[in-house]
Amino acid sequence: MRLSVIVPCYNEETCLPRLRAELLHVLSPLTEEFEVILVDDGSTDDTLGQLRAMARADSRFRYLSLSRNFGKESAMLAGLKHAAGDLVAILDADLQHPPELLGDMVALIDKGYDQVVARRNRTGDARVRTAASRAYYRMMNRLVDVELTDGVGDFRLLTRRAVDALLSLEERNRFSKGLFAWIGFDTAVVDYENVARTDGDSKWSLRSLVNYGIDGILSFNHQPLRLAMYLGALCTAAAFGYALWLVAGALLNGTTAPGYVTIMCGIIGFGGMQLLLVGVLGEYLGRIYQETKQRPHFLLKETSHSVAPETPCVDD
Ligand code: UDP
Ligand code: MG
Repeated sequence: MRLSVIVPCYNEETCLPRLRAELLHVLSPLTEEFEVILVDDGSTDDTLGQLRAMARADSRFRYLSLSRNFGKESAMLAGLKHAAGDLVAILDADLQHPPELLGDMVALIDKGYDQVVARRNRTGDARVRTAASRAYYRMMNRLVDVELTDGVGDFRLLTRRAVDALLSLEERNRFSKGLFAWIGFDTAVVDYENVARTDGDSKWSLRSLVNYGIDGILSFNHQPLRLAMYLGALCTAAAFGYALWLVAGALLNGTTAPGYVTIMCGIIGFGGMQLLLVGVLGEYLGRIYQETKQRPHFLLKETSHSVAPETPCVDD
């Protein structure tokens, strides 16, 4: 069994020494043939320097360095494209995805599963955040066709055919949680206790989390467009009813000087709603625009397996 372990790293210089030690400790007894593919996602600290040193010291540690920060999704994709293993694991550099779970995960693959995902509980998370996540997943699962689970992230082990299935999805807006669920295959879940980050900082701010949430909703389904249609139909029906009522009133009682308030509320309310719905349309249009440009998902600057200088380091 050949096992590839992909680790996206963005400014993780403080985590790498411990990560290397833990991975060696876990992987050595598990299989003789393993490779660790560390993907430097345009780090500005000494991450790349450390990756170079790790690769020099042990050829089982390989690295890819992206030309700038492309985001975790692209870093994972770069790793997946370069992984040669029959089994491929993805985990974070900060040890929040405990490598010692890999043993149990490999055992489940042997039982015939194609994906083994690790699910964390929410011990230590702020209550508000836990509640917000739960609500988000409940809403998402109503909207999208695939089933998304709270606490399940990118920490998983995939068979070669699951990896190939993922790689066949060419889209630029990669909402990986959705993609992993979309490819299907028999999936097993392993639970683990939430671990706090010990070194370095999380790259997620509240704003980026909210944006990620919106990305998830928009890039994975077109229900918001349908919702807009329903809302439009509802408003038209309401307006029609109100018009009838006004006309009937005018016929029965003659015209009075009707309310300024009603008109203002109507204008402001409908104006706002139209802008909102145009915004939804714009989001989809923006995504289509991005997809049509067909840009590569990432660019490579440097890799451990020496690339000839004349070879353009473009993702294939
Ligand atoms: N990461 C990355 N590119 C980014 C942001 C993050 O490759 O633009 C990596 C990061 O180095 C880590 C993993 O993605 O290995 C998860 O990031 P983080 O720990 O910040 O996320 P959290 O655990 O807080 O969800
Ligand atoms: Mg983390």
